[in-house]
Parts: sequence; structure tokens; C-alpha cells
Amino acid sequence: MLRPLELAHHLLAEIIVKDDVVVDATMGQGFDTVFLAGLSDAVVAFDVQDLALEMTEKRLAENKRQAKLILDGHENVDKYVDKPIKAAIFNLGYLPKSDKKVITQAETTLPALTKMLELLVTGGRIALMIYYGHEGGHEERDAVLSVVSTLPQKTYQVMRYGGINQINQPPFLVMIEKLA
Ligand code: SAH
Repeated sequence: MLRPLELAHHLLAEIIVKDDVVVDATMGQGFDTVFLAGLSDAVVAFDVQDLALEMTEKRLAENKRQAKLILDGHENVDKYVDKPIKAAIFNLGYLPKSDKKVITQAETTLPALTKMLELLVTGGRIALMIYYGHEGGHEERDAVLSVVSTLPQKTYQVMRYGGINQINQPPFLVMIEKLA
């Protein structure tokens, strides 16, 4: 069976074509950026840490892929992207192997999500990988869930996928599709 991140990639790959504007809201180690850059030539990726940009740049070069990397918060997406977007992905939490104090936070995640929902084309999708096992993670998870679970159902389809018999606090996927 697919794991949540694998399902996210599968559902994004179903709709992304070469010229689509696609946003990686949280570069991190660059895995999603490289994946998206294999589908589209117009990937824009955000992170607030130099280390994330360095890791992503290296991973893109190794895979001979290209993306526009931006050292700024995803909540400023509208400063950099003024075209409709086909898809976006958020990988919440902290950068593995790095400073666990730099985490995504509801105060910036939610404005970023709202802006990206506005930019999203009909038929476009946004994947949110919700990691919440770290300090502050539950607050962000709950804030995100309360927003996505009240999106109007005529305009958005919102699905959730994740393991329910695992110990610890495994990440889960929330997938949003704009219907109209
Ligand atoms: N939990 C995931 C990785 C998440 S990485 C896993 O285990 O695979 C999350 C990234 O988001 C980090 O690199 C962090 O620097 C970045 N980040 C934090 N706040 C941000 C913001 N406002 N805008 C963009 N990126 C942000």
C-alpha cells in the first residue's frame, strides 16, 4: 500500500503537466522539489533556512532538474507568484537533521494555504503532509484541520489519509482539490 507521502506524489503526478506553475511550500531536504521538477518546468520552492536551499540545490543538480528556489516564508507566496497555480505541497514540521526550533507554524501556514487556494486553478490540488509529533505540532495540526474541514464542499473536495494503528505519531496526508 502507498504511504501518505507516496499517495500525495501520486495524486499530484496525475494532474501536473510540463508548463504548470507548481509550488513546493516547504523545500526542506528537497525531495518534493526534485519530484515536482520532474513533472513541470515551472516549480517555485520556498524555505526560510539557507540549509534547505543548499540541500535542495544539490539534489536538483544531482538529478539534473531545475526549480526556482526562494529564501522566504511561504506566507509571502503572492510576492513571487502572480500566475494561477496547478498544485502545491506542504511538508509541515521541522527540517530533519537540523534545528528542531525552526518549525512551520499555523500563523504562517494558514495564510500561505489561503493564498495558494486563491491562486489554485479549478482541478488543481494541494497536498498537506501533516507531521505533528514535535513540540507545537498538535497546535498546527488542529489549526490546519479546522480550516480545511470547513472549506465549502461545492468548491473543494478535501480528503485525509494516514495510518491509524501505528505507535508514535505518524504523519498523515490532507489532499484538497478545487472543484469549481
Ligand atoms: N517533517 C518533514 C519535513 C518538514 S521540513 C519530514 O520529516 O520529512 C519543513 C521545512 O519548512 C523546514 O525546512 C523549515 O525550514 C521550513 N519552514 C518553516 N517555516 C517556513 C515558512 N514560513 N515558509 C517556508 N518554509 C518554512
